[in-house]
Amino acid sequence: MRSYLALLLFALLLAGCQQRDSLRDILDGGELVVVSRSSPTTFYLGREGPTGFEYDLAQLLAEDLGVELRLEPAFTLTEVLSHLERREAHLAAAGLSLTAERAARFHHSVPYAEISTQVIYRTGQRRPADMDDLGDLRLVVLAGSSHEQTLERLQASTQPGLRWQSLAEADSTELLERVENGEAELAMLDANEFRIQQALYPRLAVAFDLGEIQEMVWYMAPGEPGAALQARVNDLFQRLREEGRLELLKDRHFGHASALSRIGSHTFARSIRTQLPEWRGMIRQVAAEYQLDWRLLAAIAYQESHWDPEATSPTGVRGMMMLTTPTAEEMGVSNRTDPLQSLRGGARYFKQLRRRLPGDIPEPDRTWMALVAYNIGRAHLSDARVLTERMGGDPHRWADLMEYLPLLQKREYYRTTKYGFARGLEAVNYVQNIRHYYSILQWQDQPAEKPSPPLDTREFLPEVLRGVRLQAL
Ligand code: GLU
Repeated sequence: MRSYLALLLFALLLAGCQQRDSLRDILDGGELVVVSRSSPTTFYLGREGPTGFEYDLAQLLAEDLGVELRLEPAFTLTEVLSHLERREAHLAAAGLSLTAERAARFHHSVPYAEISTQVIYRTGQRRPADMDDLGDLRLVVLAGSSHEQTLERLQASTQPGLRWQSLAEADSTELLERVENGEAELAMLDANEFRIQQALYPRLAVAFDLGEIQEMVWYMAPGEPGAALQARVNDLFQRLREEGRLELLKDRHFGHASALSRIGSHTFARSIRTQLPEWRGMIRQVAAEYQLDWRLLAAIAYQESHWDPEATSPTGVRGMMMLTTPTAEEMGVSNRTDPLQSLRGGARYFKQLRRRLPGDIPEPDRTWMALVAYNIGRAHLSDARVLTERMGGDPHRWADLMEYLPLLQKREYYRTTKYGFARGLEAVNYVQNIRHYYSILQWQDQPAEKPSPPLDTREFLPEVLRGVRLQAL
């Protein structure tokens, strides 16, 4: 009888466990536990602590639920999902594509991004045109990735001879590294992963796009009922989409990567090694005087003059920060080709432009808009903001502004503005380039070993983010 009762009790307990509801668990415990992997597109350690697209998104959910976020880093994709399987996290947010195999194991959210798959090669090597054209080129993918599943499917159906190597690594950096140093000829990965890291591997390029779009989703810990958490996540994603905040977040994390050409990245990587050491001390000094991030000032100076104090343009702007004569005079610069004077004048001018923008433009959009003003003047920036508003965009958002700025080149639009034609597209590229340079300098200038708790950087921070690839800094 006693054992019968014990059995009954056990059965009840078990039923109780199965009833465990993730949302209840989170709200009762005051903590949302999210498992992710470390990569520049998901989650990494920045200057001010953990950051990344997935981290920010998870933070938004935690805020929405009114709880603390605990982010558990996993080393590989397989590990992310096994953490989740063991219910060591409430959900996985790790740049994970929706696949049939995963959907059979876990509940998942609605998609928050759509990303294509690319095959990357090294320029100068044979460039395959499509999946039928791989020959005996060595192809690498991340073990446990959606791409591995795609390859398995192709092998089982149309391409029995297909061969590849799956690497159990934390992130796609390792794949690119292999192609870069010739240990493999091709890598298959998400387009955004490549785009964001391309600048660090200037010799690599897209061989072809697989032509299928993968949807990125969050997966929920197994066990019923998990639907309440799923519904909250879906609701959040939908709201973020409708309010345009999802796009904004994507732009913050990935937006800067699109503008720069491969050649441009290559030249920048070389200039960091060859030119920057000469100017870094001075740039840091001036940045400190004007309370600017030196890496931003360095990025602007590079975009302006490629760190050449003698630079001159046909339109008459000169020097490291390419000041016009009137601006130089206004900023107290007597000799524009004196690099210290030029940096000071440029820093002061930039800060003045940023300060004079309407107070309700938030950072970092404010900085990007001040750069537009530096490039094409405050008048055109003001026109572009009016036009953005007229077109239904939000003039406080850089993501919106960059969409409408190029219209200032079209007669039908600039006819209607106060100050007329402006090189809007050039201004967009100007800002995007600077953002790109700035972000590369930020990665290169990261703290290598700290902080330790709660995140052990040595274990999961990708090499590229530790700043060891371009050691010149
Ligand atoms: N999105 C991929 C996946 O879900 C991981 C990233 C990659 O391999 O590029 O497996």
